[in-house]
Amino acid sequence: MNYDSFLKRDYKFLCRDSVRHFRLTRLHIIVLLACVLLLGTLLTFASHTAKARHNPTLSTAPQTPSATHVTLPLALPAAMHATPVPGNTSLSPQASVHRWSVVRVRRGDTLAAIFARLKLTPGELHAIMVLGKPTATLRALRPGQQFKLRTGPDHTLQELVYHINPLHTLHIQREGGRFKARTIRRLPEVRLAHVAATIDSSLFLAGQQSGLPKNLIMKLAGIFAWDVDFALDIRKGDRFSVVYEEDFLDGRKLRDGNIIAAAFSNRGHTYRAVRYTDAGGRTDYYTPAGLSVRKAFLRTPVAFTRISSRFGTRYHPLLNRIRAHQGVDYAGARGTPIKAAGDGKIIFRGRKGGYGRVVILQHGGHISTLYAHMRKFARTQHVGSHVRQGQIIGYIGQSGLATGPHLHYEFRVNGVHRNPLTVTLPHAAPIATRYRQDFLAHSTQLLARLAVYDHTQLASNRTQ
Ligand SMILES: [Zn+2]
Repeated sequence: MNYDSFLKRDYKFLCRDSVRHFRLTRLHIIVLLACVLLLGTLLTFASHTAKARHNPTLSTAPQTPSATHVTLPLALPAAMHATPVPGNTSLSPQASVHRWSVVRVRRGDTLAAIFARLKLTPGELHAIMVLGKPTATLRALRPGQQFKLRTGPDHTLQELVYHINPLHTLHIQREGGRFKARTIRRLPEVRLAHVAATIDSSLFLAGQQSGLPKNLIMKLAGIFAWDVDFALDIRKGDRFSVVYEEDFLDGRKLRDGNIIAAAFSNRGHTYRAVRYTDAGGRTDYYTPAGLSVRKAFLRTPVAFTRISSRFGTRYHPLLNRIRAHQGVDYAGARGTPIKAAGDGKIIFRGRKGGYGRVVILQHGGHISTLYAHMRKFARTQHVGSHVRQGQIIGYIGQSGLATGPHLHYEFRVNGVHRNPLTVTLPHAAPIATRYRQDFLAHSTQLLARLAVYDHTQLASNRTQ
């Protein structure tokens, strides 16, 4: 039924070039005649090389929908937006050849629905789905994705090509009586990009003006968040520069990759970070000396709107007297997630007088942190649970003695209260000794690159 129209499309697709040539010659009969004459002359010169050069490609030989044309396409049709070929039960002369169908996934499509449309058997579908992990991706098709299927003379499925994404393609092929699946992975070409800017009003604006993609601005802030408080510390004249990866495929940009080196100058001090993955597969950002840029503790364990009370002596509005405030109060919206400041273990979780709902974490031997006035605790955790840095342990509330929703946060070293805003935070684990030499070789090169770029950037700024 649709088979004819498919063939026509196939023909048009394959012969688009020759059709165009044909129109041109009709419009320029004289040119054609001249060409024929010229060709004749050339032939007398070149007839002995013609055989050797004969190359039946589309551009040199106008093609017709001949039998050879249909049997050839074991090479995949590149960009054919054809509808699927319905099962062809009539025995046309072409029925004995292998045929590729191209299917575009529709909304709500499943592989079963596609197989049904193509009149492929449930047995073949089953044989593919039981191949396990490689074909599990076929359970979650997305509209617009493309399949190419090759059927044999008796309309049995021989081959299936599924473009999972630009980098991954699933190939399923009949080998003997069974199907074999393999996922072909393409590696993008990674190019390095540089960006540098001076902050005038905000990091975000400077980042955007310099052309740094939004998500990388956030990542940049994340890298230096350990040393720079981007809500409070940014000043006009602060500078940053970034070397980051861009992934290209077939000469076109696919996506932004990772920041691999960056520098941030804040109020006269420059922080530097280099991304490094050790042979054990652990990736982190390190200072040029090989220390982790991360601290063992988050400076601020919550996204807050303002600091409503600092560490030190203060007048307590509810108790109506002067007393020491042994933590920092972060005012924030009710329900805002509160994160564990560092890796640790929950040693208390419950109500505790004026603290209301409180969680206390023990970190290693001598540091503990306390989070008070919670509205509720994180589910699934209990006293004794281990939590990772940044893991949500509860939500901002107003339980206990509190005039408004806020987190009261305490930091204790050997049982002594310290000001969480100023206490020197220990670094997270530095680069492992056995990777140190490799890291230094890697980072020296990247930092030099960053410095050279900054230098030229500064020079060009001066001349502007
Ligand atoms: Zn407080």
